[in-house]
Amino acid sequence: MMDLQDKYGRDFKTLRVSLVSTCNLGCVYCTMGTEEEIVVDKKPQVAASVFLDHIAKLHTQLGLETIRFTGGEPLLYRELPAVIEGVKAMGIEDIKMTSNAFLLDRMAPALKEAGLQYINVSLDAMDDDSFFAMTRRKQLQRTLKGIETALACGLEIKINAVMMKGRNHNQVLPLLDFAFKHNIKIRFLEVMAMGHLFGHADEYKLSQEEILAIIATKYSFTKLERKTSSTANYWQTDNGYVFGIIANDTEPFCSDCNRLRLDAKGNIYGCLSTNEAIALSGNETEGELQQKLRMAMAQKQDVQFKGSEMSMLRIGG
Ligand code: SAM
Repeated sequence: MMDLQDKYGRDFKTLRVSLVSTCNLGCVYCTMGTEEEIVVDKKPQVAASVFLDHIAKLHTQLGLETIRFTGGEPLLYRELPAVIEGVKAMGIEDIKMTSNAFLLDRMAPALKEAGLQYINVSLDAMDDDSFFAMTRRKQLQRTLKGIETALACGLEIKINAVMMKGRNHNQVLPLLDFAFKHNIKIRFLEVMAMGHLFGHADEYKLSQEEILAIIATKYSFTKLERKTSSTANYWQTDNGYVFGIIANDTEPFCSDCNRLRLDAKGNIYGCLSTNEAIALSGNETEGELQQKLRMAMAQKQDVQFKGSEMSMLRIGG
């Protein structure tokens, strides 16, 4: 195994795999909503064997501990159970997914059976109008049903909610109450300057401080100690519930980031702040692969995410 660490002692133990680069929702932080991006994926998909080959080679070099499947929308990837089974067979400990849960109701049992353990569900609103303002789909109930079925299957769920002024800023407390009621951990995200928001995300940003001020109108809470490489800060309310905030901008967490990304074209990226794809052919010698991993390592930011013109739709959240 390769001793790949930068001057801050950062390594890559988590791989995020973007299985498809299209989605069935049109979330306003990802996309302007062109049809090419948000129709159900009709393009040929990359075979599970290709993803598994890349993942196995990266695992040999890095000793991966966590794989997170993402997209686009990973539930649109037809061979998802097979790819999960393949990763499980490699002995990688944690198998996770980030999904909008739109198709989760019917897929949760097969995914659990294949070896999936954790799902981060993106849910940005608890009322139909705000859900539409964020996703451009009227499908809140379907998302909630997906969450319910996944919980019943024994999958562990967290909710991720991107907060945007003028879109869903009034949804902090409804989302928090829903999560507390169902005993689900929730994290609120500051919106990031990616894709079409590059250069003007601040117009929409609800900061960590502003989110905490809203929560403080209803709950008292204390901050918990942050775990190494965690993307979120966590707080516990006086009545025992935990919530988090992913403060990309106001309390950045790049300094102990341990993430590497693989997209659906076989490119790796060491950081969300870059557009520079490092293409894997699958035929690299060990030395060539190590060289590419060093290039990815060099993309990492020291302290703070700088923004990028590439949408997360392409590279995965
Ligand atoms: N389709 C899946 C989903 O909705 O969870 C997975 C991919 S989507 C890109 C994953 C998540 O990335 C989004 O739900 C959102 O939480 C996050 N995301 C995307 N663009 C973002 C942005 N500009 N700022 C903050 N978070 C963003």
